[in-house]
Amino acid sequence: MIPAQNKWMLLLDKFVDDWAGILIPRPTIALAGFEQSDGCYWCGKEVDEKNCCGCKERHVPWSRVIRLGNYEQPLSTCIVTGKYAGWDDGLEFLGKLLGEQIRGSVPPNSIIIPVPMPPLRRFFRGIDHTAVIAKHAARVARLPMRQALWRWDSAPQASKTASARIKMKRNTMLLRPLARIRGKNVVLIDDVLTTGRTMEVATNRLKSKGVSSVRIAVLAVTKMPKKGKKSDLWAADRLTGALGGIQYSSLPVF
Ligand SMILES: [Zn+2]
Repeated sequence: MIPAQNKWMLLLDKFVDDWAGILIPRPTIALAGFEQSDGCYWCGKEVDEKNCCGCKERHVPWSRVIRLGNYEQPLSTCIVTGKYAGWDDGLEFLGKLLGEQIRGSVPPNSIIIPVPMPPLRRFFRGIDHTAVIAKHAARVARLPMRQALWRWDSAPQASKTASARIKMKRNTMLLRPLARIRGKNVVLIDDVLTTGRTMEVATNRLKSKGVSSVRIAVLAVTKMPKKGKKSDLWAADRLTGALGGIQYSSLPVF
């Protein structure tokens, strides 16, 4: 017979397990229905028979884009939750999926470098989501990860318009001392590829420091937005509330 005290502990465990399972969605549940899709080899945008991605006129400094899919449901919600609500499990899951894509599709002597977050933003957000994604991707792809870049700029990319992003200054991305990247094939990791300006600045910086080649690996690729992605920030607010257990019932299933 189970002693009375243990019985209560078991009940408490069950209670916590049930509620934790509901309040913090498991990545597999949150990503239900998502299918991975490759985009254009060079720009990463969706390619179909009618709509060409239109990157023929565009020069991209990297040699390939590896991605999980388009920036749309349910992938987008998972990225936003990971980023703004610090959903570690979700970032880990997505990072591992990306690692599987990277493994076997990069040359030897490759290293993984996450696109850095400005220190102040890292401080306020409490999580460097790109570094988390890169860490798990690197483990699955069996490649070393190096935080070789350093960066500062003011407003987060998501709040800027497309034109403001394009104007991003070249000198906002710097190489850390003792980065040891000369001659390496770099896989540059970020969460979402939008205009590609951040990646362009990072790629050019790396190439100027003697990197052999740069590939881009991102969770999702968007179509170019006209305005800042306000709706995503709004969704993140709701989800932060949801993770605090306040508004869960009013949330759509994701
Ligand atoms: Zn293209």
